[in-house]
Amino acid sequence: MLLVKNLNVSVKNISILKKLNLEINPGEIHIIMGPNGSGKSTLSATLSGQQNYTVTNGEILFKNKNLLLLKPEERAGEGIFVAFQHPVDIPGISNQSFLHHAVNAVRKYRHQPLMDRFHFIQLVQKNMALLKMPNDLLNRSVNVGFSGGEKKRNDILQMMMLEPLLCILDETDSGLDIDAIKIVYNGLNILNDKIRSFVIITHYQRILEYIKPNYVHVLHKGHIVKSGDISLVKQLEEKGYGWLSG
Ligand code: ADP
Ligand code: MG
Ligand code: MG
Repeated sequence: MLLVKNLNVSVKNISILKKLNLEINPGEIHIIMGPNGSGKSTLSATLSGQQNYTVTNGEILFKNKNLLLLKPEERAGEGIFVAFQHPVDIPGISNQSFLHHAVNAVRKYRHQPLMDRFHFIQLVQKNMALLKMPNDLLNRSVNVGFSGGEKKRNDILQMMMLEPLLCILDETDSGLDIDAIKIVYNGLNILNDKIRSFVIITHYQRILEYIKPNYVHVLHKGHIVKSGDISLVKQLEEKGYGWLSG
């Protein structure tokens, strides 16, 4: 599904990612851990096509297409979804109209019939109930004045509505209380199936109580310095990152 080969990324002429390789097949869950500043958010920003993240070398193929030629909205249409570490506020645009517009933008790109207001409301309310989100969050401006937990749940709601193929979650579990973490991971598990893949960036071992990843990677100074299975998470919890820095 996703093939990242020898990727080098710079931000403002500073080299951040260096010769990064990553291969993700349909249905796989990959966890990425690593110290602060190692380049985890740079990777998610690059995959989503954010400005200012310049690919200076290497390639990214998504479903065998050159992702680097696609605009952010085209990447979303192809099925890439990123829940950013710091979700953005959009004053003046209601969550409902934002979500409805986003759903129909990807449907249009995928040549699927547009979703009318009635079916949209039905689906969004069903998903909000699963995420235990109060209804009034639909009528408020996107993320404006939302608590940290509400913003993260709103990201998962977007993910549920857009039905992406590759879901990238950048520290969606940071700063959440235990109940909110359960709700977020439950939403993720609802979407987890044989075709959809996940990249989950996290600092927390407790993710393993909810999610069974196929691979765990450690990103350090812009490289993946180690990949393994879930036992790597336990090793990191015990030993920290120092033993991997080489
Ligand atoms: P992580 O998510 O692993 O904590 P980041 O990808 O956020 O790491 O950051 C990696 C490095 O790149 C850091 O040194 C950070 O300061 C730098 N960086 C990332 N984004 C920007 C940006 N937009 N402008 C300047 N520096 C950036
Ligand atoms: Mg960080
Ligand atoms: Mg980060």
